[in-house]
Amino acid sequence: MVLVYAESHEGKFKKAALEAVAYGSATAKVLGTECAAVVIGDANGASALGQYGASAVHHISSDNLGHFDSQTYAAALSGAATALGAKVVILAHNSVGKSLAGRIAVKLSAGCVTAANAVPTNDGAFKVKKNVFAGKAVADYQIDSDVKVLTLSGNSIKPEVIGADVTVSPLSVDVPASKIKVISTNKQQGDTAPLPEAELVVSAGRGMKDPGNWGIIEDLANSLGATTACSRPVADIGWRPHHEHVGQTGVAIKPNLYIAAGISGAIQHLAGVNSSKCIVVINKDPEAPFFKAADYGVCADLFDVVPKLTEAIKKAKA
Ligand SMILES: Cc1cc2nc3c(=O)[nH]c(=O)nc-3n(C[C@H](O)[C@H](O)[C@H](O)COP(=O)(O)OP(=O)(O)OC[C@H]3O[C@@H](n4cnc5c(N)ncnc54)[C@H](O)[C@@H]3O)c2cc1C
Repeated sequence: MVLVYAESHEGKFKKAALEAVAYGSATAKVLGTECAAVVIGDANGASALGQYGASAVHHISSDNLGHFDSQTYAAALSGAATALGAKVVILAHNSVGKSLAGRIAVKLSAGCVTAANAVPTNDGAFKVKKNVFAGKAVADYQIDSDVKVLTLSGNSIKPEVIGADVTVSPLSVDVPASKIKVISTNKQQGDTAPLPEAELVVSAGRGMKDPGNWGIIEDLANSLGATTACSRPVADIGWRPHHEHVGQTGVAIKPNLYIAAGISGAIQHLAGVNSSKCIVVINKDPEAPFFKAADYGVCADLFDVVPKLTEAIKKAKA
C-alpha cells in the first residue's frame, strides 16, 4: 500500500497535500496497490481526499501532536506506515515534508528520495526521477529497500478529481511527548500562496538598489495575484524577509510563471527556479547570465519596464 501524509493548515488541505494524494494514487496504480492518506489533528474535510485518489483516509489524533514537531510527527507517521503495512510513504517536498522524510526513512529502514518530480516506474526495479546538478539534469533513482519514502516536488502533478469522498477512520499509534514548547508563532502576512505552492511568482534582486523601491514589485505581483520572492543577497541584507529567498540555499520553486527583475541569474539562484515553466527576465545588462535560462527576456531598466508591465496587466484584466 502507498501511504500519503496529507497536511492540513487551519482546517484546509494545502495544494501540496492534494498533489501528494494524486501522486500517491498514480504511484499505487503503477504498483498495483491502493493509496491511503493519513491526516494529523484536524480531520475536517479529509473525506474529500478520496476525490483525488485516496481509497481510505486514516486520522491520527493525539495531544502530543498539538503543534508541528518533526520528532513526534515522524513517530506518528512511521507508526501509521508500520500499522498499515505501507510500502511507499509520500510527503510533499515542503519544509514539513523535508524535515520528516529522513526521520521516517530511518525509522522504517527505508530508501529515501526527496524532491521526486515524476510518477515512479516499476519495471522490475522501483525508479523515480528528480532534478540534479542545480536542475541541469534529471536522474533516475532506483530504490531497492522494501519500504520507500518519497517527497514530491511542488507543481509536479495536477490534482484532479478522479473519485469520491471516502470514510475517515481513526488510527491509533504511539506518539511520544514533544520536547519542544511553542511560545509564539509569527504568521506570514497576505493571502497569496506560499512560495513552494505558488503558480505565479514575481522576484527581484540587488538591481532594485533599495528596499524602499519594492513597491513596484509588489504592485506587479498584486496585479497578477502572484507571490513575491527575492535573491539571497537581498534577504541577507534584510531588504526582504528570509522566507522569500529562492535558490540553492533558499526555497526551490516550480511555478508556471517566474518573473525576475534585477537578478543576475547566478547558478545558485537558478538552482531553485529553473524548473519554472516560463521564466521572464528583466535586466539592463545584455550579458546577464539569466537571459540564457529565460523564455522571455527584456533587456531594459526595470524601473521603466515593471510599472509599464503592471499597467498593461491591469488593463488586460479590466
Ligand atoms: C554557496 C552559495 C549559495 C548561494 N545560494 C543562493 C541562493 O539560494 N539564491 C540566490 O539568489 N543566490 C545565492 N547565492 C548568491 C549568488 O551567487 C549571487 O551572488 C546572487 O544570486 C546575486 O544576487 P542578485 O542577482 O540579486 O545580485 P547581483 O548579482 O548584484 O545582480 C543584480 C542584477 O541586477 C541588474 N540590474 C541592476 N540595475 C538594474 C536595473 N535598473 N534594471 C534592470 N536590471 C538591473 C544587474 O545587471 C545585475 O544583473 C549563493 C552563493 C553561494 C556562494
